[in-house]
This record gives sequence, C-alpha cells and structure tokens, in this order.
Amino acid sequence: MSTDHRWFDPSHPPEQAFSIAAPLFVSIPAGWQALWKDTLRQLVSVRTADREFSLNYLSLELEDSLLQLDMPSPDPVLLGIARRCAERSKFICRQCGRRGKLRQFNTHEAAALCAQCAAPELLGRAIDDVIRFPSLICIGGRADRLRRVPEVLRKLFARAARQSALNDDVAEPSMDAAEFRRWVAHLEQVRSFLPPSASAPI
Ligand SMILES: [Zn+2]
Repeated sequence: MSTDHRWFDPSHPPEQAFSIAAPLFVSIPAGWQALWKDTLRQLVSVRTADREFSLNYLSLELEDSLLQLDMPSPDPVLLGIARRCAERSKFICRQCGRRGKLRQFNTHEAAALCAQCAAPELLGRAIDDVIRFPSLICIGGRADRLRRVPEVLRKLFARAARQSALNDDVAEPSMDAAEFRRWVAHLEQVRSFLPPSASAPI
C-alpha cells in the first residue's frame, strides 16, 4: 500500500511533510487559508511517533462557525494547536482574511467576517426577512412604523417612502400596501445582485 499520504511520518523533512499534507485538506474558506497553513506548519513541527495516530485521522470541521481541528486522542500539545486555531478563526474574516469578528446572525447561524464582507451579508439577510415576512412591517394596509423595518434597511425605506408625494409632510415615513409591494419588489431585485449567504450553521 502506498505511504505517499503519510505526512505525519516524522521521518519526512518538514517541507516535504507540508507539501504532502496541504492538498489533503480542501474546502477551507479562502480567508482562513493562511491560518490553516500556519496551523499545519505547527502540526508538522510537532510530529512524533506517538502522535501519528492522532494526526493520521485529523479532519477539519467548520463547527460553531470556527475552524476546528478534530482528531482522536490528542495530547495537550495537539490540543493546544487545535484550540489556538479555533480561537484565532473567530477574529479572521473567513471570506477575505482581514481582521474580523464572529457575528451572530440569528440563534443558529454565525460567521467570522470583517465589516466590509458583513455588510452585504447583513443587507441580504434583512431583505430575505422582509420578503419572507412582509406582514410584520405592513400592517392593516400601511407600513408606517420605521422601527418594524430591519435596521439596515431603514434609510432605504425612508427614502422610498418620501419619494411618494403623499408623504411630503409626514415626519414618519410610511407607505400604503401598493407602495410597500413595489418597494419589496425593488428589494428582490437588489437581493439578486448580492452574494449568497456566507454563514455556517452553528
Ligand atoms: Zn472580509
């Protein structure tokens, strides 16, 4: 049986071990590639015969929206490397690699993103909410409570409402049902230009 994949074998020089291992772990978000390579170099540098079993069964998980290393029977050194990687992934944008933070989108979805990558994500999610639950905003034939509109969409809502002649003198922006439907249709168009969701299940 070929042993070409045995990057964890301590007899390989580090650079060779790294080159063997790198292609074995795919599907890592682009922004976390550097973090993963750094972590892999740490794992390569601590290869011993005792750790071969753990490293042989190493797998990567995106659980809890973090970059998690999963392996059987990790000793404290391997555990430390795994924990450091997961901890660092909280503060690195998984899309672009810039400094980010873990952003909780709802009770079951979160993602580590920088402000720039989070903006379209938050906008897309807010639009999805309006499209899915319009009756939470437009009640009794009127959408006239700005606080019912998702925060990230309030400026757009106010601008669209004030474009209507009926609303010229109204301090609180409002739309009737037909205006609201037109606004939602416009949001659907905006949504189609936004990237797909970047979050991972928690
Ligand atoms: Zn980013």
